[in-house]
Amino acid sequence: MQRAGNKRACVARKSTVPPIVAYHDSVNLYREIRSYYALYRGEKRIIGRSAEGRHIFAMFVGKHDSPVGISQYAMHAREWITALLALEQMNAGVPCGGVWFVPLVNPDGAAIVQSACRFGRSGERERSLWKANAEGVDLNVNFPARWGTGKRNVFAPASENYVGRFPLCAPESRALASFTREVRPQYTVSWHTKGEEIYWRFHQPRERAARDKRLAKLLSKSTGYPLKESPDSAGGYKDWCVEELGIPAFTVEAGNDSLTHPLGISALDEIVNRCKNAIADLSKGF
Ligand SMILES: [Zn+2]
Repeated sequence: MQRAGNKRACVARKSTVPPIVAYHDSVNLYREIRSYYALYRGEKRIIGRSAEGRHIFAMFVGKHDSPVGISQYAMHAREWITALLALEQMNAGVPCGGVWFVPLVNPDGAAIVQSACRFGRSGERERSLWKANAEGVDLNVNFPARWGTGKRNVFAPASENYVGRFPLCAPESRALASFTREVRPQYTVSWHTKGEEIYWRFHQPRERAARDKRLAKLLSKSTGYPLKESPDSAGGYKDWCVEELGIPAFTVEAGNDSLTHPLGISALDEIVNRCKNAIADLSKGF
């Protein structure tokens, strides 16, 4: 193919999204997301700070037309790999409407897990499997949606399942909730690991359940992950979006169940292959 004279090839496509780089298990996740955010040329916001003062970043892809969604990642510390999935999905684009991507909701927790894995000291097992924020609050049971009624809830700081002193007591969940109230999205997606399944139900009335299940099936078709029910959970971001905001909201557990926590870079390719187009495909369903 002759390159000379091909004018179109000379016009670089102006992208707002920085290129994806190759990551290693030694990646400093917070630093990576922060520099991606610095390079990102689209609309962007710092929506709050973590308990230890790290920023929580949000970046908008697409247009401010219907539907606008929020997709959030790495709320559970040991599930930090999903933050890198966020960047891949941003690069895949949003064909209908737009999406606010919040790639790293729990930056302190991710740092706890990453440093425990890096130093590999004995006695670090609990910290390498940490899910909570730095204060031992599990952010995904800290939302005001039947708060404190989950079957596995605990009521003192812990590596997982502690609901907090009151709903939204953690700065990270508070930041995400107030950002969500401000954006008023038409849907939200929460990315976790692992198990390859999708949750969508939280006590919806029948008509809304039909609407939400139809959309959940689009996510299922895109990822190949089946729909599941979790009647014993409460206080999650997805639960709050469904119950308080009345919008469809989904939790996707990415990554095969045979993998061990915390999932590392070696799991990323497979997760990206399955989930890269999930947000784009969902956005077409409204
Ligand atoms: Zn999780």
